[in-house]
Amino acid sequence: MPYCPKCRMEYREAVDHCADCGRRLVDGPMPPDEEDFVELYACATRLDAERLKAMLTVEKLVCNLREMGSTSFPTGGGVYGEVRLVVRRREAEQAAELIRQAMQDGEISPEAGEFVEEE
Ligand SMILES: [Zn+2]
Repeated sequence: MPYCPKCRMEYREAVDHCADCGRRLVDGPMPPDEEDFVELYACATRLDAERLKAMLTVEKLVCNLREMGSTSFPTGGGVYGEVRLVVRRREAEQAAELIRQAMQDGEISPEAGEFVEEE
């Protein structure tokens, strides 16, 4: 069954473009959910990363942390290296919205990190 790799929606055989985003559909079975993760947000400190992860988990989103730097050797970016939040692709938009909301509410500092740009 064709599916949209962006929205993870399956379509009938006759359809070749996603009704949602207009992207060309890919043929075949949808890859397992677990493999489709994206890096969403880069935190300068593990503390902020843990805080954001807890926040997303409460909202029932799947979130993992990926260590990018070393805590013993400061990098140019952040003193404590960098921890990235990894979320499901189909939940990335929702997760980003929650992070922005938390910053507006003052629960997390806007300087905690930055969104990872997708290539
Ligand atoms: Zn789509």
